Amino acid sequence: MNMNHQGRPTGTGTSGFASTSGSSLLPNEPLLFEIGDTEHSGVDLPDVTITSEFLGGHERKSDIDLAGLTEPEAMRHYVRLSRLNYSIDSGMYPLGSCTMKHNPRLNEKMARLAGFADIHPLQPVSTVQGALELMSQLGHWLMTLTNTAAVALTPKAGAHGEMCGMMAIRAAQEAAGQSHRKIVLVPESAHGTNPATAAFLGYSVKSIPARADGTVDVEAVKSALSPDVAAIMLTNPNTCGLFEPEVIEIAAAVHAAGAFFYCDGANFNAIMGVVRPGDLGIDAMHINLHKTFSTPHGGGGPGAGPVVLSEALAPFAPVPFVRKGELVEHAEGQHLGRITAFNGQMGMYVRALTYMLSHGGDGLAQAAKDAVLNANYVKARLQHIFSVPFPGQPVMHEALFDDSFLEGTHVTTLDFAKAMIDEGFHPMTMYFPLVVHGAMLIEPTESESKQTLDRFCDVMLELATDAKAGNSARFTSAPTKAPRRRLDETRAARSPILKWERPVDLPQAAE
Ligand SMILES: *Cc1c(COP(=O)(O)O)cnc(C)c1O
Repeated sequence: MNMNHQGRPTGTGTSGFASTSGSSLLPNEPLLFEIGDTEHSGVDLPDVTITSEFLGGHERKSDIDLAGLTEPEAMRHYVRLSRLNYSIDSGMYPLGSCTMKHNPRLNEKMARLAGFADIHPLQPVSTVQGALELMSQLGHWLMTLTNTAAVALTPKAGAHGEMCGMMAIRAAQEAAGQSHRKIVLVPESAHGTNPATAAFLGYSVKSIPARADGTVDVEAVKSALSPDVAAIMLTNPNTCGLFEPEVIEIAAAVHAAGAFFYCDGANFNAIMGVVRPGDLGIDAMHINLHKTFSTPHGGGGPGAGPVVLSEALAPFAPVPFVRKGELVEHAEGQHLGRITAFNGQMGMYVRALTYMLSHGGDGLAQAAKDAVLNANYVKARLQHIFSVPFPGQPVMHEALFDDSFLEGTHVTTLDFAKAMIDEGFHPMTMYFPLVVHGAMLIEPTESESKQTLDRFCDVMLELATDAKAGNSARFTSAPTKAPRRRLDETRAARSPILKWERPVDLPQAAE
């Protein structure tokens, strides 16, 4: 591939595109500015003379610097870019913890109804009663499925929901004269957002070790509890794909110590309709609508991660929230105020409620059970070659392997994941959770058929067999068939190039 000095593929102009993978159908897409140029416009407009009075003295002094493309040129650029992407609509996406389930087309159809899609947050309230009713119904079902007292709808992702829930906990403790509680307990297997949330809000984080079987050590929780502990942040089912067997005992110990139980609900899809987290003693839990309730994972947004709250925390919800069948948009007193503009991501609310109502209570429970069945099927098919760190127990919705089966092969978890790309699959989650070495976390979800799971397992077994047979080059050189080979991810993260700069003295060059 042709790369310039900044690691960006160079375009070859509007006529012929350099191919990326040897297939001329997968073009190496140039930037918009390399296809069009800033001297031309894609539309024909009559010349106008703009005088300074016209714009109150605020006319532009410099060129606008937008690439002039026709509508078909612009359209084709974005469609070609989209074809370089792997997506849930093009293949299986077995990312553990992330729950990449199918986004039903019915959800999309409902979200496009004009009464939901074309409304504006500043419209008179009397004209958006249907949308408000939908928020109220969504809140009702989230509280019903979790057996909780209130739900704040507006957080825009799981991580934002965590922050919202922990802010409610902090507000409740401040109101009770307990603001000296400055420690948050976080198990070792937790997602990085949990300690990040606690630290962001000024708490110090105390890590709780995992037991040899991958579950949280209850005795370690009990001995870490003290009058200075504000809360525990616990994921259930946990990130090893295991239901915490002593979660009720943990909740009781946490409450006895005067602390709150924040549950990371990212894995709620494994138990929805089967277990109500409120019955387990949780005080706050975010629900990633994009994981459990099939809304699209954003490409940067818009997302939604509502937080359900117990009776004790309900008075500290941010507005708008739903409580006892009522949508509260303005509240006085202890409430947190707003954490987002307006009422949150309406399109996601519509999709999530559509998923709930089209499944019904029994259908949601069935989806959770099918997700668990699929994960156990993958585990059963792979476990004679892949190494299972916590053997002897069935998993919930995701199957966890470590890299000990690759010992001596010179193939790492990362290499293995890259080779999966060449076989047409998105890699599983790698190196998370941190409690196992070289983790491979596979979550097939309920949406995959047995045929797809079998094809996936066949590929995984073939790869593992090949790695063990000593063919490490296939892995260390992978991917060879993707639009991009291995990237310098550190450099991409630390010095991303996010903006086109007008070439200074090289008028024809790309950079
Ligand atoms: C996905 C995830 C989060 C964060 O949720 P986002 O919606 O990605 O912000 C937190 N905890 C766990 C266990 C997760 O899987």
